Amino acid sequence: MLDAAPRLSVVIPAYNEGKRLRATLERVLEWTGQWGGTFEVLVVDDGSRDDTSAIAGEFASNHEHFALHRLSRNRGKGAAVREGFVRSRGEFVLFSDADLSTPIEEYERLQEIVDGGADFVIASRGLPGSDLVIRQVWYREWMGKTFNGFVRLLTGIPFRDTQCGFKLIRGQPARDVARFMKEEGFAFDVELILLANRKGLRIQELPVSWSNDDASRVNPVTDSLRMLASLARIVARTGRYRD
Ligand code: UDP
Ligand code: MG
Repeated sequence: MLDAAPRLSVVIPAYNEGKRLRATLERVLEWTGQWGGTFEVLVVDDGSRDDTSAIAGEFASNHEHFALHRLSRNRGKGAAVREGFVRSRGEFVLFSDADLSTPIEEYERLQEIVDGGADFVIASRGLPGSDLVIRQVWYREWMGKTFNGFVRLLTGIPFRDTQCGFKLIRGQPARDVARFMKEEGFAFDVELILLANRKGLRIQELPVSWSNDDASRVNPVTDSLRMLASLARIVARTGRYRD
């Protein structure tokens, strides 16, 4: 028989994360013990070529409430997060980058905002209260700000950082909007925010602590171009922020 739905599903998209995934899963496990709520952790291996699946699979077989899902080929972070949403059963769904650039403890601050009435909380590196402990190299920071400028201009989204890999959303709406998520690459967060807004969800941006990890899967040239193309498709398909 299936367990009752957990309070929280943690979705971790993972592409070639062999080097840092084990430490991440250990950290998340330790934190769940301190936190004390019911949970499931879903690692979605996005067609990795390294030992990501072996590590996550072994961890899942040794630890209750940890599971591995695999995409047969590398499709992008958006596809991996969407898969995690579809598979999730939690009352709330958090997705977090595998490098824990935003420490998992920050979840509790996001949850407080949801408990205060929000449906979707996006962690942000772009607000006055954001604590950038280790910053990205200048050109990645510049790319991030430039992308955010295009996002605000073209979509009307008011947020300062749509791309931070740490977001909390109520479970049922996450599973509902997942059916409409088409963008599979790094710009999927923009589409997710627009879909959530169209569905009438209350979205709030919250400054968090964030530490860069240099082992990046982002190619500054090709991924920037892909993200702009993706943004154009999102605007054409989804329209503007309506709040
Ligand atoms: N990721 C993924 N599929 C990809 C590329 C990245 O699932 O094709 C995941 C990656 O494993 C990580 C997250 O997306 O969990 C963010 O990637 P990364 O840390 O490289 O991005 P950055 O911090 O440089 O923006
Ligand atoms: Mg990272």
